[in-house]
Amino acid sequence: MCIFCDIVEGKIPVQKIFENDLVLVFLDHRPINTGHALVIPKTHYANLEEVSEEALIAVALAIKKIGGLLKTKLAVPGYNVCENNDGIAGQEVPHLHFHVIPRQENDGISHQWPHREYNPGEAEEIIKKLLT
Ligand code: AMP
Ligand code: ZN
Repeated sequence: MCIFCDIVEGKIPVQKIFENDLVLVFLDHRPINTGHALVIPKTHYANLEEVSEEALIAVALAIKKIGGLLKTKLAVPGYNVCENNDGIAGQEVPHLHFHVIPRQENDGISHQWPHREYNPGEAEEIIKKLLT
């Protein structure tokens, strides 16, 4: 179905970190930082809207586990967890995946997002749209 499905089926080799019935965790082959891991559900779901609650819970637990491994085994002081949801947000592989990206002091990686202010009444309008 997609390249990550091929990885789950063993058709494409990866550096596997761990797996269970529902999730697979492996090294990103083009790491942002050493140890950059990808956490995926074994079933193909395109994004967060599609994923089952059971699979998402398993993915969340796997993220927690790999985060702990990075800290204890690789002495990583912290990490970013990131999911690009849909192409417009930078998702290239259309199979839900979370990046777990180790961070180091002065690693030169910028995750600065441009912030703006809400116009008067704009935030209230958003809340109304979301809740009605
Ligand atoms: P995204 O842009 O969020 O869809 O991220 C896709 C990620 O998958 C990128 O960081 C790629 O480096 C990674 N990737 C793609 N193909 C492979 C592969 N065969 N093995 C490991 N990582 C891969
Ligand atoms: Zn897939």
